[in-house]
Amino acid sequence: MNNILNITEEQLYKVRQIRQITNAAYVLRFDRNGSGFTAGQHVILGLKNQNNAREYSVYSGENDDYFEILVKEVLNGTVSKQLKQLRSGAVLHMDGPMGTFTLPAETIRYKKVIFIATGTGIAPFRSMVRSYPELDYLLLHGVRHSFEAYDRNEYQKEKYVLCTTADQKGDFHGRVTDYLMEHIPDPNAEYYLCGNAKMIHDAFDILTLKGVKPEQLHTEAYF
Ligand SMILES: Cc1cc2nc3c(=O)[nH]c(=O)nc-3n(C[C@H](O)[C@H](O)[C@H](O)COP(=O)(O)OP(=O)(O)OC[C@H]3O[C@@H](n4cnc5c(N)ncnc54)[C@H](O)[C@@H]3O)c2cc1C
Repeated sequence: MNNILNITEEQLYKVRQIRQITNAAYVLRFDRNGSGFTAGQHVILGLKNQNNAREYSVYSGENDDYFEILVKEVLNGTVSKQLKQLRSGAVLHMDGPMGTFTLPAETIRYKKVIFIATGTGIAPFRSMVRSYPELDYLLLHGVRHSFEAYDRNEYQKEKYVLCTTADQKGDFHGRVTDYLMEHIPDPNAEYYLCGNAKMIHDAFDILTLKGVKPEQLHTEAYF
């Protein structure tokens, strides 16, 4: 969580559009202004004249000429509600991109990558898949309802497993951690975990108990 103190003109970005995906989740697209980034990094975002800002993973790809973030409006939240009200032409304040939750070139080229996400924790993985078309990956996405399978049609069918807890319309009924309990992990893969901290802790324990080495596990906790 951050407070914005000194805003410079270079840190201001214009909103292009907001795309509602579910009642609570939306994709906010804004100008890139030539900023570079590596898929998996996050930015710190807030409204121009507001004092609050929060971290958001970049959802768009490295080659897109805009930035996108995927946000879920949090009940009684501050920034996730403020961003949802924005319309084309509004001005955002952004710090970054920053962070080291990224894929080394060797991993992109030679390794199998298992992505494990809950909710909007899918954001950095969408950016990676979009940026590196040659990537050998499997994406496990844990949500409550099947309608929260954000932009599912962008992933190859056989590379995306939707785990749902509140309905049975996903590919697997249960949490992503239940899925991991029932499946033998690939011992040579690199594992990237993103989303809520409890899932990350539980998945870490399950995978290491099943023989995956801690150095094969990479994590980004949202809350
Ligand atoms: C590195 C990083 C990247 C992040 N990337 C994203 C992203 O891509 N998309 C995104 O939507 N969020 C992301 N977050 C979370 C985001 O920074 C905010 O915490 C979130 O938007 C809530 O902010 P708020 O001001 O609306 O609520 P606040 O007033 O800050 O928080 C209200 C409460 O909601 C909890 N909370 C935060 N996020 C969630 C959630 N998703 N579901 C349920 N409870 C939650 C908080 O722990 C807190 O208790 C990221 C966090 C980090 C650290």
